[in-house]
Amino acid sequence: MQLGTDRKGPQAVPELPGGAAWLFVEISGDDAAEVADRAAAVSLVATARHSRIITSPAQAAALWRIREDGGGLAGRSPAGAPAHAGWEDAAVPPERLGDYLREFDELLLNHHLKGFPFGHFGDGCVHVRLDFPFQHDDGAAVFRAFLTDAARLVASYGGSLSGEHGDGRARSELLPFMYTPAALSLFGKVKGILDPDNILNPGVLVDPEPLDANVRVAEAGPLRTGLAFGYEHDDGDFSQAVHRCTGVGQCRAAHRDNQTVMCPSYIATLEEKDSTRGRARALQEMINGSVVGGAAVGHNHGKPNWRAPEVHEALDLCLSCKGCASDCPTGIDMASYKAEVLHQSYKGRIRPASHYSLGWLPRWAMLASVAPRVVNALVSLPGLGKLGLRLAGVDQRRRIPAFAPQTFHKWFGSRRVSVALSASGPDGRPQVLLWADSFTNNFSPEVGKAAVRVLEDAGYEVLIPEKPVCCGLTWISTGQLDSARKILRSSVETLKEYAEQGIPIVGLEPSCTGVLRSDSIELLGRAVAGQVASATHTLAELLAKTPDYEAPSLEGITVVAQPHCHHHAVMGWSPDAALLEGAGASLQKLGGCCGLAGNFGVERGHYEVSVAVAEQQLLPAVRAAAADAVVLADGYSCRTQLEDLSERKGIHLAQLLAEKLPAK
Ligand code: SF4
Ligand code: SF4
Repeated sequence: MQLGTDRKGPQAVPELPGGAAWLFVEISGDDAAEVADRAAAVSLVATARHSRIITSPAQAAALWRIREDGGGLAGRSPAGAPAHAGWEDAAVPPERLGDYLREFDELLLNHHLKGFPFGHFGDGCVHVRLDFPFQHDDGAAVFRAFLTDAARLVASYGGSLSGEHGDGRARSELLPFMYTPAALSLFGKVKGILDPDNILNPGVLVDPEPLDANVRVAEAGPLRTGLAFGYEHDDGDFSQAVHRCTGVGQCRAAHRDNQTVMCPSYIATLEEKDSTRGRARALQEMINGSVVGGAAVGHNHGKPNWRAPEVHEALDLCLSCKGCASDCPTGIDMASYKAEVLHQSYKGRIRPASHYSLGWLPRWAMLASVAPRVVNALVSLPGLGKLGLRLAGVDQRRRIPAFAPQTFHKWFGSRRVSVALSASGPDGRPQVLLWADSFTNNFSPEVGKAAVRVLEDAGYEVLIPEKPVCCGLTWISTGQLDSARKILRSSVETLKEYAEQGIPIVGLEPSCTGVLRSDSIELLGRAVAGQVASATHTLAELLAKTPDYEAPSLEGITVVAQPHCHHHAVMGWSPDAALLEGAGASLQKLGGCCGLAGNFGVERGHYEVSVAVAEQQLLPAVRAAAADAVVLADGYSCRTQLEDLSERKGIHLAQLLAEKLPAK
């Protein structure tokens, strides 16, 4: 739970009853009263010392999200050491689970191992990753001894070594604990009839290799110096971070469900090098100095070759969507690793044109805000616009976005004057700081205006910072991390004044909100950025914790929602889903990524993949949507992609809620 709080902020973890382990029991019934009765009955018969009945859909969703993240969170031991797969899904009869867990804990103590068990206890299935000491000479021996004892234990409970995933190479040798010699010999005979030449899966199940025969120990040493990010969850070590990948290959599943984002580039190209795993492997080889793509890159005077072309090729089509940061069971965060590689590669060198154009976009937008209409007219001249795109390293099929005639900050300032003149503002309302990022301020001020309306309707007095505050997102995604740190430090200083007074901060652009919640800690350290990160909310998160807040009715409205990929990965979208469904909307939530992903989709060379990613979920869904359905897209990128590639227009949650409020 502490890890969940550290990674996603305190709002990601609802208050829990006392204890060191928790069992979630989901209860259904015909109506609310029946569910409440059943919940009360369960808490009475349960032998747990404390219990809590959760009725809020948002809190329930947040708790399930923690369970879903179990695999990634368990990628580190309680002490922060790398935790490995190997004994990962044993199951025992559910009625014997308590006794089994007590003995399992003892077994871990005896073998000096640690991990976070989690699982689906209704099936008696317990997942765990353990900190086998593979960095020491006796690592493989510890692995063997533990697996052997654990197999003996689970078999004594009448359980299975693998309740879910299969026995594979790590557990086949242990099958005699579960099956009699006669049964195993029969398995072998059946296999022999069907596969006389033993070409199907040799070395598995019926003729097992030793369980430690294929243990791959990372050859790379630590890489801690000169890094831009802090790698807080990897002991400050880039090497540990990229070696999180255990190679299971969930990132290669070509699925398109509505729960995950990882890995859109792999789904688009079906090339291993474009999967999260392929990229992690390329980075591992870069660090350990072995071969990448046929060329020995080796260590460059003891340093990894950050500029190895094979590494850049593997990272080129990474959208930096952060899908892997939440969907990869081990928590690989390729967007950050890509930013680090770009940062290290281009330090003190000329960068690609798009790093100056798109990477500095907030700076150009600030300049354009002096005379936005003139700038818009100039860039819409056919020759000039095309030339501008070429010089900026942008694909010719994209367009330069229009700057708003009036920024959000200017609008808010003029509004404040008229409010002051009317001199009748209500007192005693709780305050909220509305943070209009560079995109909202310069390109979508209508989103900021709608948010003001919604927050005031919810009973807040809305404040904004004295001057526009930028999070440095575009500098981060283009790997200009020294500049990003400078920008972010000054922004965090500004926002801290509000956080220190207990004033919540609401971000509107999901990727920028994600920077304050997560990247800021990686770039500036928790001591500097932690307070602002904890105070920062999405709109739905703040409304969910606003006492007595009631959203306007959305009965009869179908919402086709594209959660922004960073929203999914960093903050989690469940409060938004709960708000929409609670207000009566019929919700069609999409997974995946819109394909634009900030600078990625507009950069020259990425257009085809960007469109292919949009075709994975977003474009088919909006084509199929009824004419009166609302297309919800909080991300400026997602709305831009819709505008470029479809006939539909996306709106922000703030706009949807504001539209449904009674006219003033
Ligand atoms: S990147 Fe993550 S999901 Fe993909 S193979 Fe590695 S551990 Fe598995
Ligand atoms: S950031 Fe996105 S595109 Fe890049 S590896 Fe992760 S899931 Fe794939």
